Amino acid sequence: MSEKACSNCHFLTKENACPKCKSSSLSEDYGGLVILFDLENSAISKAMSVKDRGHYALKVR
Ligand SMILES: [Zn+2]
Repeated sequence: MSEKACSNCHFLTKENACPKCKSSSLSEDYGGLVILFDLENSAISKAMSVKDRGHYALKVR
């Protein structure tokens, strides 16, 4: 089963709802995958307002 991207916070999950923001608005149509692990020094995490480590989609359609 493939991962889906939360259209709200872009978190990638295999669940039926986003574990981060509890949104059930998930999309299998996303582009770009970023794995954020160094939030302190990541420009991407700042741009995306990401607070947790994990896999995120860059674009969710
Ligand atoms: Zn979410």
